[in-house]
Amino acid sequence: MPEPLPMLPRPLDTRGRPLHDLRISVTDRCNFRCVYCMPRAVFGPDHAFLPRDELLSFDEITRLVATFTRLGVEKVRLTGGEPLVRRELPALVGQLAAFPGVRDLTLTTNGVLLPAQAAALREAGLHRVTISLDADDDATFMRLNDARVPVAKVLSGIEAAEAAGLGPIKLNMVVKRGWNEHAILPMARRFRGTGRILRFIEYMDVGHSNGWRLDDVVTADEILSTVGSEFPLEPMPPTKPGEVAERYRYADGAGEIGVIASVSRPFCGTCDRARLSADGQLYTCLFATRGHDLRALVRGGVSDEVLETTLRGIWEGRDDRYSEIRSAETVELPKVEMSYIGG
Ligand code: SAM
Ligand code: SF4
Ligand code: SF4
Repeated sequence: MPEPLPMLPRPLDTRGRPLHDLRISVTDRCNFRCVYCMPRAVFGPDHAFLPRDELLSFDEITRLVATFTRLGVEKVRLTGGEPLVRRELPALVGQLAAFPGVRDLTLTTNGVLLPAQAAALREAGLHRVTISLDADDDATFMRLNDARVPVAKVLSGIEAAEAAGLGPIKLNMVVKRGWNEHAILPMARRFRGTGRILRFIEYMDVGHSNGWRLDDVVTADEILSTVGSEFPLEPMPPTKPGEVAERYRYADGAGEIGVIASVSRPFCGTCDRARLSADGQLYTCLFATRGHDLRALVRGGVSDEVLETTLRGIWEGRDDRYSEIRSAETVELPKVEMSYIGG
């Protein structure tokens, strides 16, 4: 690894937001078919996933991250699709962990492959993991993941991550009306007092294959009053600017939960995230309809200087605030899928 180059002046977008957080999708494939993300009717046996040579190589990702860190990125999250289905992932983690500018190197996973990989990921330098789990009963969870994966498999993943030193674990639960709102309280009961931080996520209109309707969203207010009906909650201050999860502590001291209210209480005003798809398109919003082709630049032999200028220009031109202006029209836009852009 060459010596790190000095930091550059940090770009601000047209709304004064810095670039701080980079999410990298390392694959568009997944071993689940969650109904709200990769519904089987759309992502079936004939679905055309990206061919291998179209994916950014680990060296290409590393080169891009080098430039992003010079522009202010301090947090890198590997995601997908399911990041753990990308072969040799610990090698990429090792390459990224070597950047001193990357203060927070994390991964979001459905957890199933963690028992086999947690130790290698930790050894390679991964700091933490976030694990998704939408219910703690098999009937509900299997209906949502549509891949016949029981809850026990994810629980083993959580334990493996903790044993490897990848805690404290954050757990993501997407709540979709009619599917798993009855699991909110059981999930709170199961994880309070364990040190694992459960975060409830409002179901979002990412992509255009999940048939999203506003009525399907169980709002943060509903979620909080459900949990609060059994366990009184107290709001907590954010730990840092741009934090998307609103935090609440159990009044009896049994830990904390989070709610990510991207639909009912949008947080575009402080959004400092960029997303890199598995084939090297840069997106400045989760709900974007088009990206910027960084793979073409990198494979075309772009110099470091031009790459920096290009990334700076993209960020400085950013005006996104989709969740603030969501409407019947925007919901119909041909947005890219979550499994491709990276959640
Ligand atoms: N496969 C990994 C996983 O599920 O954790 C990483 C990728 S997944 C796209 C990242 C996160 O996005 C998961 O926690 C998932 O539940 C969430 N997600 C996917 N589709 C969503 C939607 N339509 N609304 C809200 N969250 C969603
Ligand atoms: Fe796969 Fe994650 Fe999407 Fe579920 S949410 S289908 S696990 S990428
Ligand atoms: Fe950021 Fe776009 Fe989400 Fe707003 S809608 S918080 S700009 S990713």
